[in-house]
Amino acid sequence: MAARTGEEFLKGLNDGREIWVGNEKVSDVTDHPAFAGAARGLAGSYDIQHQFPDDCLMPDPETGELINVSHMIPRSKEDLKRRHKGLERCAEYTVGYMGRTPDYMNVTYAGFAGRPDEWGANGNEEGAENLIKYQKFLRRDDISLTHTIIQPTIDKSEGDAPKPGNDVALHKVGETEHGIIVRGARILATLAPFADEIAVYPGAPLLPGTDDYALAFCIPMNTPGLKFICRDSCAGSRNTFDHPLSSRFDEQDAFVIFDDVEVPWDRLHINCNMDVYNQVMRTSWFPNVMQQTMIRAQTKLEFAWGLAAKMAESINSVQPTQAQMLGEIWTFAEFARSCVQTAEDNAHDHGNGAWFPQGAPLVALRSSLPYWFPRVNEIIRLIGSHNLLAAPTHAQFSDPALRPLIDHFMRGAKDVDAHSRARVFRLAWDFTGSALASRVEQYERFYLASGARNQQLAHMLGERTRADRLVNRFLTEPIIEIGADRASNKKVGAAA
Ligand SMILES: Cc1cc2nc3c(=O)[nH]c(=O)nc-3n(C[C@H](O)[C@H](O)[C@H](O)COP(=O)(O)OP(=O)(O)OC[C@H]3O[C@@H](n4cnc5c(N)ncnc54)[C@H](O)[C@@H]3O)c2cc1C
Repeated sequence: MAARTGEEFLKGLNDGREIWVGNEKVSDVTDHPAFAGAARGLAGSYDIQHQFPDDCLMPDPETGELINVSHMIPRSKEDLKRRHKGLERCAEYTVGYMGRTPDYMNVTYAGFAGRPDEWGANGNEEGAENLIKYQKFLRRDDISLTHTIIQPTIDKSEGDAPKPGNDVALHKVGETEHGIIVRGARILATLAPFADEIAVYPGAPLLPGTDDYALAFCIPMNTPGLKFICRDSCAGSRNTFDHPLSSRFDEQDAFVIFDDVEVPWDRLHINCNMDVYNQVMRTSWFPNVMQQTMIRAQTKLEFAWGLAAKMAESINSVQPTQAQMLGEIWTFAEFARSCVQTAEDNAHDHGNGAWFPQGAPLVALRSSLPYWFPRVNEIIRLIGSHNLLAAPTHAQFSDPALRPLIDHFMRGAKDVDAHSRARVFRLAWDFTGSALASRVEQYERFYLASGARNQQLAHMLGERTRADRLVNRFLTEPIIEIGADRASNKKVGAAA
């Protein structure tokens, strides 16, 4: 099978998986009010690839069938530029509002498959072979993957890594003829109801003596024993006028319980191999996946700038402070664009012939975004003020008695009619103020570690040679009394 259509994607979701939301265990996510809108929203992301095949599709290197370009293992700077176009198409479709469209995991696994040298180290040759086979399946069957890399929190003071004997974090408890048995939990599987399979791979490094926790594998969502506990739905209504974003882009987040789940041997990528677990995420994973996430973020920032500007224009809000705040959002978007471009222009072979962007500009950007996105939301709320909450619904516009009154009293400035004005402000509220907006802000703050942790990492990874040289000049130069010559000249002059 090659790149799927949205309809093909939807058919795969009704497979008996165990999804819990609110008071219910859901039998069909494509038909449930909490999920149906986003299922169709995601289906749209599959259709996009057929609408823009030149940007989104490429031939599979072995079979020639058309696959999404996010599955490419980049071998040059040109490959990365090519991948950029496809990732941008996908980001534009959700205006960056869905963080985990399937291209995120496609890029991740393409990056892993480009580094069999690292995955196959320390006796893990079989795991690496399984992973390469799996990436072929992923790209040719156009699979939607969710993932969990973080250990659940019980007692925060114990740190990120499970101690030996921890019975909450996911770990291996036995073997069968067909594979291994795993038990425990992981967080937080975004996209779970809309995925075909779940991926488990390393997050924070593990402590000595916890080899049973060193696991990586991918299994189908309906594997017996897998349970997904979703957060409350933010899906809004099914009406794209009232809820233009939350009606279709609530990608969901789920706590995952592995209640004695069998992982087949050929789906195991790391089987209690601590050295590989603690090493494979350290080198090329970040610069690779950051190309996808930062193109998404840049797209969202540019959308936010356009939306905020449209909002100000529709009520002719022209104070200098509004322009200043609009300029602030533009600045974020432009910084993001420049960082991605610099990282791609300085791409290099990260090992084994796999080309990924330069890491440093992406580290800087990733560290800044948890602070920029909340500020963007604040700006949109400041510019929008009460207008964000004075925007009639589609049903109210459809009422023949109400409509003339709305048209008169709720119109915008100049020639902006009430319907157009409501559309802008409803979009802006869904972007910054709805239940989904609040969840999305939380996502931007934490989806790959908090801003605080990212900034600490930035400092630790930063290349300090030039910074040290600039400082050391002042710390090592001979001490000079500035002005001493002039003072002595004056004295000489006076004497003369
Ligand atoms: C909406 C959403 C979706 C997510 N989706 C996924 C997913 O699909 N797959 C997945 O695997 N995970 C996902 N995650 C989980 C995510 O990876 C974690 O939330 C993230 O790694 C942060 O870990 P934490 O929540 O334990 O918070 P922490 O990183 O522990 O942060 C909690 C607080 O403590 C502070 N803090 C922690 N450590 C330090 C430190 N060293 N210095 C200073 N301050 C510190 C932070 O700044 C923050 O205020 C998602 C999270 C969210 C919120």
